[in-house]
Amino acid sequence: MECPFCNPRPENVLYEDGLIRILLDSYPANRGHLLVVPKRHVERWEELRDGEKSALVRGVDLAMEKLEETLKPDGFNVGMNLGRAAGQTVPHLHVHVIPRWEGDCKRPRGGVRKAVLDVEDENLNLKERWIRNRLGDDEIRALREAFLEGGT
Ligand SMILES: [Zn+2]
Repeated sequence: MECPFCNPRPENVLYEDGLIRILLDSYPANRGHLLVVPKRHVERWEELRDGEKSALVRGVDLAMEKLEETLKPDGFNVGMNLGRAAGQTVPHLHVHVIPRWEGDCKRPRGGVRKAVLDVEDENLNLKERWIRNRLGDDEIRALREAFLEGGT
């Protein structure tokens, strides 16, 4: 299978520079869920070069800034699933930037600490998730335009 982050669908690419891309997640956990990925196919954190690590942090910064401008979330979950045991499904390192709003789930307390809980989350139904959380065309256009304006 082709790597979805080495060969992202063009409509999912919001930002790209020499080292990283910022993508719309295809199965968003919440509205505006973005991924920051190194352009180089790297599976593990240890394989990243120093410049790529700082570029990923810069990408997280930019992603949060543009989401704040356009979708005005109340908070974020930011995280990585590193290794199959940690839930990594695509073997190309990626940082999730998930915008959060007050009341978007019943029990937000703990955030990413819940990564180890063994629950069947209704969020894991990919098709329902996509239908419920995908952004409208106008919202995607606004986000894309925000990225075109560059970082502050
Ligand atoms: Zn890849």
